Order: sequence, then C-alpha cells, then structure tokens
Amino acid sequence: MKLNLLSDARNKIENDLQNFTGKFVYVPEVKIFKMACGCSGFLADIRGLEVEDAEVFHKHITKMIKKILKNITMKVDIVYARNFPGTSMVVGLTARKLCNRCKKEFSGKSPRPDILVLSRGKQLVKSI
Ligand SMILES: [Zn+2]
Repeated sequence: MKLNLLSDARNKIENDLQNFTGKFVYVPEVKIFKMACGCSGFLADIRGLEVEDAEVFHKHITKMIKKILKNITMKVDIVYARNFPGTSMVVGLTARKLCNRCKKEFSGKSPRPDILVLSRGKQLVKSI
C-alpha cells in the first residue's frame, strides 16, 4: 500500500468530521496495525470529537470509514469509537479485523465501557 493513501485517509477523516460536526476536529495520526493476539486493522487518532457526536453521526462516520477501507483494500469485522476512560472525548476511530479470541469479547452489544460500536459483522461486510 502506498503511504499517500493513508495521507488521503487522514485528510478525509479530518475534513469529514469537521463538516459533520462543525467543530475543529484534528486527526494527528492514522495507522495500520497488527496486534499480538492476531487482530489487525486501521486506526485514526482523534482530537476534538465528543462521544455524543460519534453517536449522532455514526452513519456518516461508518460510511466514511468504509470508503477508506475500500481505498486501502482492507476488510474488517467491526468499526468503533473509543473514548478516553471517564471522559466524553473520542480519542480514536478503529476498524478492526478480529482474531477468534477478541471475536468473543466483542460479541456483546457493549463490549467495553470505553467503546462505542458504530458498525459490525454482516451489515459491515455487506457494504464494503
Ligand atoms: Zn485479537
């Protein structure tokens, strides 16, 4: 994958989130990751977005992330926003292909208190 695709993805996320919310949202970093457990995916660090914004605009955000995944030819199982524990600030948007162990952890409706699931499973795969 060419790095300019990631650069485009970063710009798009920042611009789109600013357009959706009308707030100054900053995306300091985007990355492709691989975890020790076997999970892999795409992560955008976010500043200036609140959990409430992610809830209100979850369809827009999911659509935006799906477009990016298509561009970087990546398929995932779940898209979620993660907040800084104990606050209402979103610190990251993650699109993740889950390993078998994490599939179980993420099978519930609210896997963790710091995670807001935006899209998952069949509904996600179908539209990629
Ligand atoms: Zn995993």
